[in-house]
Amino acid sequence: MMTRAAILRTVGAARPYADSRPLSIETVTLDPPGRDEVLVAIKAAGLCHSDLSVINGDRPRPLPMALGHEAAGVVEALGDGVTDLAIGDHVVMVFIPSCGHCNPCAEGRPALCEPGAAANGKGELLGGGRRLHIHGHSAMDTMDRADIPAEIIHHHLGCSAFAEHAVVSRRSLVKIDPALPFEQAALFGCAVLTGVGAVVNTAGVRAGQSVVVIGLGGVGLASVLGALASGASPVVAVDLSEDKLSLARSLGAVQTVNAADVDALEQVRALTHGGADYVFEMAGSVRALDSAWRMTRRGGTTVTAGLPPPDAALAVNVVSLVAEERTLKGSYIGTCVPARDIPRYVALFREGRLPVDRLMTGRVALDDINAAFDRLADGQAVRTVVTFGA
Ligand SMILES: [Zn+2]
Ligand SMILES: [Zn+2]
Repeated sequence: MMTRAAILRTVGAARPYADSRPLSIETVTLDPPGRDEVLVAIKAAGLCHSDLSVINGDRPRPLPMALGHEAAGVVEALGDGVTDLAIGDHVVMVFIPSCGHCNPCAEGRPALCEPGAAANGKGELLGGGRRLHIHGHSAMDTMDRADIPAEIIHHHLGCSAFAEHAVVSRRSLVKIDPALPFEQAALFGCAVLTGVGAVVNTAGVRAGQSVVVIGLGGVGLASVLGALASGASPVVAVDLSEDKLSLARSLGAVQTVNAADVDALEQVRALTHGGADYVFEMAGSVRALDSAWRMTRRGGTTVTAGLPPPDAALAVNVVSLVAEERTLKGSYIGTCVPARDIPRYVALFREGRLPVDRLMTGRVALDDINAAFDRLADGQAVRTVVTFGA
């Protein structure tokens, strides 16, 4: 079939993206789902900093690539071997497929699936290869001419969700309650899974423990919500943007510190009586991670889910690590077990205890996606969602 998708061909385009248009919206050929694969009609797809990091070159990926990895939609067709989903089911995409067999999967850590990570690195689906391509020489050529060499399009994290349709591995999907609106459901696949999971899974925050979150994008604000839902106290949110600090305060019992203040570290230490039990770095910068380390108390844990450029390194004071029994932890997709965690977080959302809808700051059509990435890069948006038809 043919579908419209947002394709990235070169990285490092000049800003504003509204003019340079790094993502071109093209009509491409989408193969039918192969074994253990599913055709999904995308209904909503969120814009995430991880997409931006591919566009600006911070996260090198094979090109051309169809971007988008935080999405919800409806099952339209099933490949051979998919017996636990039905046409019409509502699903959320998870941006690392888990094979179920490798060592991390066997240990109950599917976010670290080795074949899943390898497929993502190659821009392929878990089952191998790619399902998006352009026959002929022009994107405007809608004839499926098998005689002309095809341009193969890579998949972004097994999803490629900035598109009307996507073929993905069954292992990239979690079925959800159809009562959940798609725009909100999409956020559960990345921002919520990553941000809430860092708090409840990676860190295991308990009621009454102190939490600091640095960087209030979609993931960071989801961590704030996760900390509140966990009963953490105090919860301190740190960012450079007064708008985001104000949004954080509106989510509940949250105190805020502007990272630009010269005494930001002292303010956080005062609010947390000398340092927090858990500090989460969600800004994706080594400087923020260094601040997170300094804001952590003796015996405390510094968690990072930020993804700085690949050569970034942190200098850690080893004596402090040892003599203060500190822990520094990485958190990938919130140390998630998606089929367990997404329904849990959805249940908390429906009880009003995890209001992730507050993270949504706008909707756009697929054709307006480049301008929406400008707003994300400028820190003006938390989560903008591309919506597709009703
Ligand atoms: Zn993401
Ligand atoms: Zn695996």
